[in-house]
Amino acid sequence: MGEGIIFKALSGFYYVDDGQRLVTCRARGKFRHKKETPLVGDRVTFTPLEEGTGALDAILPRKNEFQRPAVANIDLLVIIASGAVPVTDPFLIDRVVSIAEGRGCESLICINKWDLEPAEDLYETYRKAGFATFRVSAETGEGVEALGQAIAGKVCAFTGNSGVGKSSILNALEPDFGLATGEVSDRLGRGRHTTRHVELFRLKNGAIVADTPGFSSFDTEGMELRAPQELQYTFREFAPYLDQCRFQGCAHVKEKGCAVLEAVKAGAIPRSRHESYVRLYQQAKEVPEWKRRQM
Ligand code: GDP
Ligand code: ZN
Repeated sequence: MGEGIIFKALSGFYYVDDGQRLVTCRARGKFRHKKETPLVGDRVTFTPLEEGTGALDAILPRKNEFQRPAVANIDLLVIIASGAVPVTDPFLIDRVVSIAEGRGCESLICINKWDLEPAEDLYETYRKAGFATFRVSAETGEGVEALGQAIAGKVCAFTGNSGVGKSSILNALEPDFGLATGEVSDRLGRGRHTTRHVELFRLKNGAIVADTPGFSSFDTEGMELRAPQELQYTFREFAPYLDQCRFQGCAHVKEKGCAVLEAVKAGAIPRSRHESYVRLYQQAKEVPEWKRRQM
């Protein structure tokens, strides 16, 4: 029996990396009956057949899963941001971080184009909030090695607004990765096509990388359907204050005696993070309860 990770799924075939090679597997009939669809990123067992082919036997338990892109078992969401054109809106960072936190996926913030614009405020915001944060220039190579060490051995999904330097960073991390800038999406069959393929790549440092669509489509659909009172737990730096508010069930928006608001005022919680929280909270509040129960 073999075991590995699905790196690619195409036309009913699953390409499973078992650490040595890519085995072309077909799913057995039971996957069709059980409504259990193997995802890229799934750890699977398979029965080896002739000449590098196999039959998928089982999907091992998932650590997490995302719909857009359809991928499972992401250890680390690598968010590429920039203070230079195109400037990254912190709200978009906070939104994907909140999704990742809710699914037990760690986030790392990489602030690229540091050579053009040292975005110290952005850097400080995420460092202070408790994330691994990196100052990087894909152009000069600054910070690239440190980023490489941070993602080594992990299954990572890269995301960020278009033009922020995702392809450039992957090329800097792995010079023979061979992506022309702006090519990530094309190589993965997006942009020109409507279907969203996602594919994993192994880097030499052992990192396994999935390129994901930009922030705007990264699993944010339906996010506002989450219960508003759950949102507070996806802002990690709020944690020490959550049980110190004067009133139980405090929304941490504008309540009197709110310990979160006091921490914002004292500078212990970055203001822009709290602003993002309020925005997401209000979006979630607008959804009527009956609609939420459909989820
Ligand atoms: P993607 O859309 O996120 O994949 O972005 P690209 O990697 O295609 O980069 C967009 C543009 O920004 C290209 O012209 C890159 O050469 C440029 N670029 C990327 N990273 C840096 C950087 O750190 N510094 C500078 N000066 N330019 C960069
Ligand atoms: Zn509060």
